Amino acid sequence: MFRKQLLLPVFLLLSSLSPAQSFRKLHNKAVLIDTHNDFISTGIEKGKSFDQDLKGITHSDLNRMKEGGIDVQVFSIFCDENYGMGTAYAFANREIDTLYATIARNPEKMMLVRTPAELNSAVKSGKLGSMIGVEGGHMIEDNLDYLNRLYERGARYMTLTWNNSTSWASSAADERAKKDLGHPYGLNAFGEKIVQRMNDLGMIVDISHVGEKTFYDALRITTKPVIASHSCTYALCPVPRNLTDDQIRLIAKNKGVIHLNFYSGFVDSSFREKNNAFIRKHQAEKDALLKENPSDFYANLKLHEKYKDEIDYVRPSLSLLIDHLDHIVKLIGVDHVGIGSDFDGINSSPRELNDVTNMPLITEELLKRGYSPKDIRKILGGNFIRVFKANQAKQ
Ligand SMILES: [Zn+2]
Repeated sequence: MFRKQLLLPVFLLLSSLSPAQSFRKLHNKAVLIDTHNDFISTGIEKGKSFDQDLKGITHSDLNRMKEGGIDVQVFSIFCDENYGMGTAYAFANREIDTLYATIARNPEKMMLVRTPAELNSAVKSGKLGSMIGVEGGHMIEDNLDYLNRLYERGARYMTLTWNNSTSWASSAADERAKKDLGHPYGLNAFGEKIVQRMNDLGMIVDISHVGEKTFYDALRITTKPVIASHSCTYALCPVPRNLTDDQIRLIAKNKGVIHLNFYSGFVDSSFREKNNAFIRKHQAEKDALLKENPSDFYANLKLHEKYKDEIDYVRPSLSLLIDHLDHIVKLIGVDHVGIGSDFDGINSSPRELNDVTNMPLITEELLKRGYSPKDIRKILGGNFIRVFKANQAKQ
């Protein structure tokens, strides 16, 4: 326990409350900001609205988010590589329209957040602060005007690439596969211009999904702190999309924040093999479930309910996810880590984190590990607010 001695007074202070009360109280009082949720694209795909009761169908919906203590959610605007020139930007706007419509239907429960002041008033009023993050540079279709317009509509971060590279930036997946992109890896001159424009606008540069070459170029060019909106650590789970210790150290130098992704395959390097074996074993049953309801989420849920002991062995523990957080804190301190669940963009999460209502368990685990309430408030949202403010400041 690397900082236990310093924390003794905090535990004395909290000892008048039962442990369950103390972590829930701290969790509810803290500003919790999740920097990545894919509900918008998943909802469009499934024909579901965020303000419906979707328990058992998705990881998140409006009421469950409040139940989980989420104050501010960054909704990912996402389409895959099948969208490109002439289609990706339009789809991004359709998703923003969807979010706007959801907010308009629920003015007492949600509000759009574009500035730190709006974030503050969302928290004060108890409405879900709803932010927009664009996941994938392909959505601007190589057009700086589209970038400007997405900012005007409220987008406050852009992930430079998704798994697909753009003409101006290479992705982690493509760099790893050594894919011939017809141009060198990293950012080209236009890519550098995009990062500069994002800095000018006040749109946070998100380095989740990008290749290492793009990462180092972006960090060299940016004059403002970056985020990884949903990434874990390579040291604990060596997949190309996770961040190496050198990358983590550079993010600290840049005063940025790494928000942890809950996807089992990014948390636990043994997940993929164990999960494949589980699916192989129950494939016939899964196929039958898919005939009943063509949702992968539904089929997995049913299988996971039925074979709870087996799946508890396949899914990593919440503790392993928090090991990633500890790893970052040990390397660079507590000011550079946050939460970016990727809920509704992933099909497996740690066994204690079944949906957004389980968020308080993160606070419980952090307290158990000796983090102070002050540090926990930074992790849950304070660090992101710092980066958001720094990006919005005039340079
Ligand atoms: Zn992603």
